[in-house]
Parts: sequence; C-alpha cells; structure tokens
Amino acid sequence: MDKIVITCAVTGAETTRAQNPHLPVSPEEIADSAEKAGRAGASILHLHVRNPDGAPTQDVEVFRETIARVRSRCDLVIEVTTGGAVGMDLEQRLQPLSLDPEMASLDCGTVNFGNDYLVNTLPMCRQAAARMKQRGIRPTLECFDLSHIDASKLLIEEGLVAPPFHYGLVLGAPGGVRYDPGTLDFFVQRLPAGSFWTAIGVGGRVSLAAMTDAISKGGLIRVGFEDNIYYDRGVLAESNAQLVQRAAHLAEQGGREIATPSEVRRMFQLRE
Ligand code: ZN
Repeated sequence: MDKIVITCAVTGAETTRAQNPHLPVSPEEIADSAEKAGRAGASILHLHVRNPDGAPTQDVEVFRETIARVRSRCDLVIEVTTGGAVGMDLEQRLQPLSLDPEMASLDCGTVNFGNDYLVNTLPMCRQAAARMKQRGIRPTLECFDLSHIDASKLLIEEGLVAPPFHYGLVLGAPGGVRYDPGTLDFFVQRLPAGSFWTAIGVGGRVSLAAMTDAISKGGLIRVGFEDNIYYDRGVLAESNAQLVQRAAHLAEQGGREIATPSEVRRMFQLRE
C-alpha cells in the first residue's frame, strides 16, 4: 500500500468558536495550528480563512497573509479551498488560486449541505479545473456523490484534469450521502485506475469510522475542525493536533507509514 497522507482541515467555513472554543480563526492562529498539526503527522493543510469577526472569506489578502505565516513556520503542502462558503459566487471562490498554491479543492457537483446547498454546475467545475490546470495547481477532486465522480471523469476526458488524480470522498455531510463501508467501497471502485483518494468523514462518529476504514483499504485520510469538533462522544477536541495525533497513531497501528510533505510532493507530482 502507498504511504498514508494525513490532511488537516484546521478551520473550514462553517465551524464556530461557539461550537469549539479552540477553533483557529486569525492567520496567526491558523498558522500555529497548522504547524502543530504538521508536528503530529499531517502533511497537507486544507486551508480556509476567516475575517476578524470569524465569518468565512475568500479574500486573497487574508489568504496571502495566512500562507506567508504558515510558510514561515513549516513545510506543509497547502491546499486552498475553492469551495469557499455557502452563497459565494465562483469568482470569489477562485480568488486564492491567484497565489499559486500547490493544491486546491475542486468540488465536482452540487449537493445538499444542511439546510443549504453547495452549487457547482458543470460549467463552474470546468472553469475551476481550467484555472488550476493553467496555473499548475493540483486539484483535489471533491466528490460528495456518485454523480460527482462521473462528472470528474468528464473533466478528465475533456483534458481539464491530468493525472495523478487525487480524490476527496466526502461522507456524512448533512443531507448528503451517508457513510457506510459499502458506500465507500462503491465510490472507490468507480475512481479512475490508480487514483489516490482521501476519506473525508463529517462528524465525530463518521470521521473516526471512515478514517479507520480508509487506513485498511489503502486510502488517505483527513481530520480537523472543518469536519469534526469532537475527540470522543460529547468531548470536544482540544486542538487540530490532537485529532491528527490520533489519526497518525491509528495509521501506524494499521501498518501504514506516514508520508512527509516532500513525499506528498512526489506522490502527487506537485510543481516545483
Ligand atoms: Zn474545506
């Protein structure tokens, strides 16, 4: 099996300080959280940023400052979000691509998200993919549904996404597909041959179950406050690093070696 890659999604767009007081919000807090997550075993930082009031933003200047602070502290691969937050338009969402990060998330379809929905029409997906291709940014093809996997294959056929492919399979988002081992298997079987895939379980129970499952099936894993704020039933996680530490421990127990950021750069053929 490949070495395992741990992505840490330290902040996200929707999690609030009221839900977990340890949520990093400012550029400095995010950089600090990223550095500690890296020391605990994470190799990729999945990055969202916030305004000082905690509201999600795709402002390029906030991304610029946060990325500079992360870079000054550690060597994590940075994957910016282009999902942004519910209600943002595509141009807003794509703004951080102008900073030429090594990776970016690319949503491959529309999906329920709690009482809202994330809109990603095929033309929007194409535009995002084309922008990433043009700048040499490796996309993480985020799929919340089987139709999203099939839509990603259209992007590939149209020459908008080149191998090696990295998928983020999102399970357990409210109103989206639920996690069970059979569903994960079904999704993985439908990915293009040789694809890397990261299991993204939303919520404490699903996050732990999907991660354990992915470790045994050769997948990669993602943890962090974007997906889950709990360490145990009813017990809030104290930090992103605490969640990464457990993920690293489970991976090692499962016989998976953990890839360093430079190994991730080779695996995913990230640009120099
Ligand atoms: Zn995200």
